[in-house]
Amino acid sequence: MDHVFGQRRVYYNNFAEHLLNSYNPNMTHDRLPYCWSDRDWTALIEMLEAFGYNVFQYWLTPRLFCREGLTGEFGHKFTRQMNFITEQAHRHNLKVEFLCSLSTVGSEWHTLCPGIPSEWEECRYLWREWLSRLSGTDIVGIFPGDPGACSRHGCTALTFIDRANEIAALVKRHLPHAQIDLGTWGPPIFGWGIIQGPEGWQGEFIQKYQHTAWTFDKHRADETMAHLLRRLPDFPADTIVSINLGFNPDGIPNGDQDARPWARQIAATNPIQTWDFSLTEGENAILPHYRFQRLFEQRRRERDAAPYSGGICYTMTPRLNQLSLYEAAQSFIRPDDDYSEVAREFYRQVFGPGTEELVEHLPLFEIIKDWGNHLVFNLSREEYHGRMNRLAELLRGLENRLTPTIPFFPTPEIYRRELLFFAEMFAMLSGPAPDYDRLAGQYWQRVYAIYDQLPAHVDPRPHQAARKIIDFFRSWKGTALPQEHGPANGQWV
Ligand SMILES: [Zn+2]
Repeated sequence: MDHVFGQRRVYYNNFAEHLLNSYNPNMTHDRLPYCWSDRDWTALIEMLEAFGYNVFQYWLTPRLFCREGLTGEFGHKFTRQMNFITEQAHRHNLKVEFLCSLSTVGSEWHTLCPGIPSEWEECRYLWREWLSRLSGTDIVGIFPGDPGACSRHGCTALTFIDRANEIAALVKRHLPHAQIDLGTWGPPIFGWGIIQGPEGWQGEFIQKYQHTAWTFDKHRADETMAHLLRRLPDFPADTIVSINLGFNPDGIPNGDQDARPWARQIAATNPIQTWDFSLTEGENAILPHYRFQRLFEQRRRERDAAPYSGGICYTMTPRLNQLSLYEAAQSFIRPDDDYSEVAREFYRQVFGPGTEELVEHLPLFEIIKDWGNHLVFNLSREEYHGRMNRLAELLRGLENRLTPTIPFFPTPEIYRRELLFFAEMFAMLSGPAPDYDRLAGQYWQRVYAIYDQLPAHVDPRPHQAARKIIDFFRSWKGTALPQEHGPANGQWV
């Protein structure tokens, strides 16, 4: 692969167990709703190809990366489904990549320590087993964590790089054709050597310590990246390094957290890609997204920085945010274009001509601040209410006159009904006297009801995320927007 900007356009579907929702495929709980059929997957892949993607990436989540995942029925179903997806992806010119945390295992997100021989042997066993089950994989991503990472028994970011090198060799033995993707996600290398735990900590996931994994220290960052450059020749020759523009959750290249000088040095020998999780959706902020100004600006920064061969377009809602998927792929292909025109073009293809006005109102869904959402609004609650009603009216007018000119999943009519649900929901929430509790219940039922059928997860963010939307409108009076309170969705604070 040569280093032409934007060549690798990676659809990253994060369907992990803490990001389940009605718009994401359920790949880990085979008896619960939202499982997709083979036909659904084929239709999605046809859409991705048409949108401009050439890599399908997913996370081999800790629930799968453990003994239970290998032996349980859900693990077998996952393997069959993934191998089917891989076959379809290849038929449609997409490579397939799985990424996996180096040593984080099981539904409880326990991180094993490479410094303990029996624990490291377990990690190597799990890697070997999954490589043999997913043998059609083209690219194997080795990822520091989030969740996960070890700082027990002297583990540091350097340990991660050295152990990732061992796993890269193991990958090459089992899948000689596969390319390695080495992730630097974090400040850099999420958590390794810096994540904290209580007295007697054995690597369990504990949410109140997660923010420590993002502790930035310039000396640590420099030492880590210098080590990575030193060890890179020991990795397979075509190893990709995923490195964002900045060593922070939003990939902002400011001050000491500017990663571009390192990215440039790596790009002299290896392809680099961004793994910028913040650009399209954030995490657990489920609504129709419209964050394209920053998306296109970031793409131009990536092009100017090194340049980057490509990067991820993250989604946890592929059945709702098809516009984001289209914009994200196109942002690599034509980063200088006007994102609003790209959106209008999208709706002409999906809903037909005369649908351009939708694009004026869609940004309003982003009124609630959240990870990666830097949009600023200045309008009154009353104006907002009026425009949401107008959007709902436009969407109602599109019923039954939809003939897409581009492959689309699931169907334009289902997509229209989902947009209408959100427009009506946000119109009601911003109305004069909303029944907030009833609307909160409606939102939960539409989006997150699957969690009512699951035991409490170690990560409680779906409940927080649903509450956050309702609370925003509850505290919005008149013109001034509610002040920020609490962490942005998806951020570990
Ligand atoms: Zn350790």
